[in-house]
Amino acid sequence: TRGLEKRFVTHRPLFGTPTEVHAVNGVDLAIHEGETFAIVGESGCGKSTLARMLIGLIRPSAGQVLYQGREMSGLPQKQMRALRRDLQFIFQDPFSSLNPRMTIGRLVEEPMRAHGIGTPGERRERVGRLLARVGLRPEHADRYPHEFSGGQRQRIGIARALASGPKVLIGDEPVSALDVSIQAQVVNMLEDLKEEFGLTLVVIAHDLAVIRHMSDRVAVMYLGEVVETGPVDAVFDAPAHPYTRALMGAIPVPAPGARDSVAAILEGDVPNPTAPPPGCRFHTRCPFAVARCTRERPALADMGGGRRAACHLRDELPAFDTRAPEPGR
Ligand code: SF4
Ligand code: MG
Repeated sequence: TRGLEKRFVTHRPLFGTPTEVHAVNGVDLAIHEGETFAIVGESGCGKSTLARMLIGLIRPSAGQVLYQGREMSGLPQKQMRALRRDLQFIFQDPFSSLNPRMTIGRLVEEPMRAHGIGTPGERRERVGRLLARVGLRPEHADRYPHEFSGGQRQRIGIARALASGPKVLIGDEPVSALDVSIQAQVVNMLEDLKEEFGLTLVVIAHDLAVIRHMSDRVAVMYLGEVVETGPVDAVFDAPAHPYTRALMGAIPVPAPGARDSVAAILEGDVPNPTAPPPGCRFHTRCPFAVARCTRERPALADMGGGRRAACHLRDELPAFDTRAPEPGR
């Protein structure tokens, strides 16, 4: 059942802004064609930066992003443009991502014009079909973004992302700005569109319920590094990394007392990303930390079953139990 593999692989120290914040450090991931891959972590963990590097919006300062076996960062402008047609982004905030002076029709047509797709008539027809597909009416094409609700604007953003006929859609918190009642509609629509258009989805989110519902595999990031990755059910049911355990514990669970224990696990502030702690970056907050953790950076090591985790103690931690996590003993 494995078709061609679509690999985004990045290695080595990855991203350095002029202030030397290593937003993404040595991330090494492969995303497979046709899957939904989620990237999860607290804000500032580098997940948005990683997502933007995956589609070439940001160039890595070191390392590589491969798409269908070709390295993206070295591509000349022209080939990069062709690649952009395949890789489209859905932004978190539909309001700020849509030019307020363009009609909806123009906004959805623009990627087709940019890539020289179709005649004006064909494009207009496709705009109508795309708008209908995301639940809007063709006559909405003449209106402007401010005339629409947040949920409708996200649908417009999705129609626009689909216009160039992409193979991969990357959503940075695609539903988190929406009302909860609207979120489910947009999530379900994305899932339907994925099947219909044969898309690969990469979803960045902090809402774990959304991630579990949508994704096949997940990568958990902390301070610019992937600390755990694997099939979403396996990772969520039995998280191997202490940080993932803390995140999972943050899912509201009915049992009393659980949330207090979770608060205990995540006590301590997120360290300053310009000066990440040496060794394991999570050691300043980890209830299981031992001396070695302050010196040696744990590798993202294979655990079998398609899972990897970056923790020195990954095989020694007590079994995970969402109802009564008891860290720090
Ligand atoms: Fe905690 Fe050490 Fe594992 Fe890091 S390596 S997560 S500090 S136990
Ligand atoms: Mg972000």
